[in-house]
Amino acid sequence: MHCRACASSFRAATPWTRARGVAWFRCPRCGQVRVEPSAVPGPEAAAARYRLHRNDPAEPGYRAFLETFVDRALAPFAAPPARVLDFGSGPAPALALLLRERGYDAEAWDPLFAPDRRALTGPFVLVAVHEVLEHVPYPYRLLSTLARKLAPGGSIAVRTRFPPERPEDFARWWYKEDPTHIGFFGPLAFEALSRRLGADLALLEAPDLAVLRFSAEPGQAGRCRAGSDDPLRDCP
Ligand SMILES: [Zn+2]
Repeated sequence: MHCRACASSFRAATPWTRARGVAWFRCPRCGQVRVEPSAVPGPEAAAARYRLHRNDPAEPGYRAFLETFVDRALAPFAAPPARVLDFGSGPAPALALLLRERGYDAEAWDPLFAPDRRALTGPFVLVAVHEVLEHVPYPYRLLSTLARKLAPGGSIAVRTRFPPERPEDFARWWYKEDPTHIGFFGPLAFEALSRRLGADLALLEAPDLAVLRFSAEPGQAGRCRAGSDDPLRDCP
């Protein structure tokens, strides 16, 4: 098996753990966890599940959740009126609305709910990948594609829950219960992704925050240049 975070190969004859009949594999080098391929939902099943997601900006609990992300992982790396992209915004553009209230030039893009690709026009000072990385099959490819949309010195701010270290804890972990959550990243996986992308890991904060900051040299962001610009496919 080939780790989607650190790119190392490892033997996967036996799963790391099983839960509810589903097998999970864990990279021995960086700890990235991912579900067995047969349990990855197809596009239609995933879309049906995403339509059930609730990210209502008027709901106080959700708004507080977003504000924590903005205060810890976004505002220290991009000041208003910076251009910011919320990649994978979900059913409502909640984060972009909150950012506009704070004076940012914020765009939202989502393959299902906000697919107008004009929103992807950079350069961006920061791209937010808020509760998205756990859904994507090729995280390095996605981050590399987004890195090329950054202005020099720009950042990618990620929120995704770091997985438990012990298999018995993982087997009981609530965050994996969403069937569209197919991969999980902890500190070593973020370090590996940052290294491969040529970025600095500017923030790593349990339980769920990481910021990758790219070089201020123009044209240095992202190293996966060959192939298409499709953020949902892996590097060739
Ligand atoms: Zn790995």
